[in-house]
This record gives sequence, C-alpha cells and structure tokens, in this order.
Amino acid sequence: MKSGLLALAKEKTVIFDGAMGTMLMAAGLSQGKSPELWNLEKPSVIMNIHKQYFEAGSDVVHTNTFGGNTLKLADKGLVEKMDLLNSAAAKIAAEVCHEGKFVAGDIGPTGKMLKPLGDVDLEEMEEAFYGQANALMSGGVDLISIETMFSLEEALAALRSAKKAGGILVVASITYTRTKRGFFTMMGEGVIQCVSALEDAGADVIAANCTLGSKDMIDLAKQIRACTKKPILIQPNAGKPVSRNGVTHYQQTPSEFAHDGKDIKEAGAEMVGGCCGTTPEFIRELAKVLCQ
Ligand SMILES: [Zn+2]
Repeated sequence: MKSGLLALAKEKTVIFDGAMGTMLMAAGLSQGKSPELWNLEKPSVIMNIHKQYFEAGSDVVHTNTFGGNTLKLADKGLVEKMDLLNSAAAKIAAEVCHEGKFVAGDIGPTGKMLKPLGDVDLEEMEEAFYGQANALMSGGVDLISIETMFSLEEALAALRSAKKAGGILVVASITYTRTKRGFFTMMGEGVIQCVSALEDAGADVIAANCTLGSKDMIDLAKQIRACTKKPILIQPNAGKPVSRNGVTHYQQTPSEFAHDGKDIKEAGAEMVGGCCGTTPEFIRELAKVLCQ
C-alpha cells in the first residue's frame, strides 16, 4: 500500500481537488452524455483539468469515474466499456501526478436503490463496485475514494468491495443534509451511526462531501471529529446552488470558501477539498490559506 497519504496528513493539511463535473460542463460536456466517455474520447481535456488542480495546490486528484460502475453505466449502454473507462481514467491522472502527489480512484453512487425500496440486491451492487475498484487499481490509482453516498448501506457495499479488491487506502465519504435535528443522510442515518459503521468496515479516512456548503461543513466536521480518531476529509460545495435559466450556479467566492476551509481545518479535518461548483481557483485560495 502506498501509505504516503496518511504520512502527508501528519505533516500538512492535505488538499484534495475541486469539482470535475463543473469543469467538464465548462469544457462543453453536454447534459445527458456520460462524462466517463471523455476518458476515451477527450483524454487531453481530462488531463488538463487534473493538471490545473495539481498546479493550484491539490495533493490528491480524483479520477473522472464518478459514474463508472456497471449499474450506472448501464443507463448509457456502456457496461462493456467499464474496465476500459476506469483504467484509462487512472492512467490519465497518473500521467500528470508527480512525486509526492496522489491519484484517488473515484467511486460514486450507482443511482439505484437497494431492495426492498429498489430492485437491486446487495450482491449485485457489491459486484458493480468490486469491478470498478479492480479496474481503477489496474490503471494504477494510489487510493480509492468512495464519495457522494446518500445511503450508508450503499457506502458500506462500496467500502467492502474496495477493501476486497486489494490492499489500498480507502476514503469513505457520505453526503449529509442538515435538518433541525442535525445532519442525516437521505436515508435518515445520522453522523454517529455512519462514522462508526464506516470505521468498523475498515475505512482509512472518514469523509463528507457535497450538498452542504462550507459553513454547514464546519459544524459537521466538529461532529465527525467527536466520533473518530481516523483522519477526516471534508469537501463542501461552493455554497448553495441557484438555478438561472435551467443552469445551476454556485454563488460563493473562492476567498469565502477558503476562509471557511480554515475553520473546517480547525474543527479537526486533516484533509480538505471541494465539491460541486468549486474550480481550481477555489483550490488555489484554499491551499494559500491552509498551507502557509
Ligand atoms: Zn458535489
């Protein structure tokens, strides 16, 4: 296992990258098209996005494989290309990843519900995640980052599968929403429940990303810190989204984001990055504030 990431986290605040989807839209990806297909069709665009994040100060970038599991790829008729799309993505990121930096193989949700709410069994879901984790590892990723999980059960399925695929560091990131009673997943699981289940299943880094902006993430980081001694990664959105002519915009500025990043660090997160709406500009500001 390339264990350097945890060692780095002892020396400095580890900076992850910002959004991939936001950057792909800006590069002309049309809605409804599979972003993963660009790993084969436009590898130089993907490589350039990774490069911009590394240059902005990211220590870790995520591969362009958020929707790269077979259950999700099935919607676009791309199941047969699963191995190729994931290994290509890993190689694209590795090519611009220099000494001391890391490539995280990105595993996002399947978009399907487990039985009895949906029609997918746990076994089928684990198989999809296991296949993707293997494909990412064959392409040479340094770690696996499971992210934007709205259901603890699905996060655990992905985590077990990534652990089964091999001795690699695994980040497990849950998406919470804020209610009057506290932070919960879409399926109603709370922070203590999620953190302890992820820890028991072997997560090396306990994380939260998406939906919440940086202000809410400060409070969430404190609550996660209170339940675990594992390293924590927090990746907020760039504030709250607003819709203008059917297009989503995020209103926070890079410096506001970076300012909150400082509080997130002080709340106990060893690792910070960005989610929806964040760009290399946000990461540059964040790195400036957190790594001086
Ligand atoms: Zn997001």
